[in-house]
Amino acid sequence: MTEPTSNSARLAARPIDEGGTPVEAWTQWRRDFAALDVEDCRTLFLVAAHPDDETLGLGATAAMLSRRGVTVQVVAVTDGEAAYPDDGGDRKELAKLRRHELADAAKALGLPTPVFLRIPDGEVARHERRLSARLGVMLAGFDRGTWCAATWRGDGHPDHEATGRAAADAAKRAGVRFLEYPIWMWHWAIPDDPAVPWHGARRIELTPGDLAAKAEAMRCFASQLERGDGPPLLTPEVVERQMALGEIVFL
Ligand SMILES: [Zn+2]
Repeated sequence: MTEPTSNSARLAARPIDEGGTPVEAWTQWRRDFAALDVEDCRTLFLVAAHPDDETLGLGATAAMLSRRGVTVQVVAVTDGEAAYPDDGGDRKELAKLRRHELADAAKALGLPTPVFLRIPDGEVARHERRLSARLGVMLAGFDRGTWCAATWRGDGHPDHEATGRAAADAAKRAGVRFLEYPIWMWHWAIPDDPAVPWHGARRIELTPGDLAAKAEAMRCFASQLERGDGPPLLTPEVVERQMALGEIVFL
């Protein structure tokens, strides 16, 4: 696909705590995408901008592949330590907590221990070339039949978009198949939105068991689901939407 332009202005125009496009708008749309054939995937390199992106976007897919004997290696680009920039909390503590949460979630999905790249949260674009080089080195160690999935280059969140660009570049150099998964698109976009490359979208066939594993993994991210002094980042509406809509990728 051609490289999408940034949709950060679209996300910025719809603050996350204002709810975004309701789940019903998507379920009533009923657009059916062709299924993704995962037969040839032997290893999936699942790149997340922040701990929880991999679960929100492709958690059930990761569980399904793992069940089929595919190695799914999660790579967390940042520790997500800037999730609550205004609350004055200790970012080192939050980073540590979020690494633990991701390790627990990976376990719930049947995956090995994640790799943490510790790039500063909120600053992925500044470190994009270094990130691409590191991902390239990691991908070079895998054989053919390896796929790389990363947050969509047009997802709206600057870290998601920069992670997608860096991973796309690394996958191209390594000669492995690249897929991208949306998360915040479901919040800011609307059905048939012209900013979304729907023609390249593929749905992943999942079982109720795969979705149950995703739900269990989601519960590991307590720091994002609950907050003492203000709305959490992942409101019940966000989680409900991600759980209800299945999982898609853009080719
Ligand atoms: Zn994220």
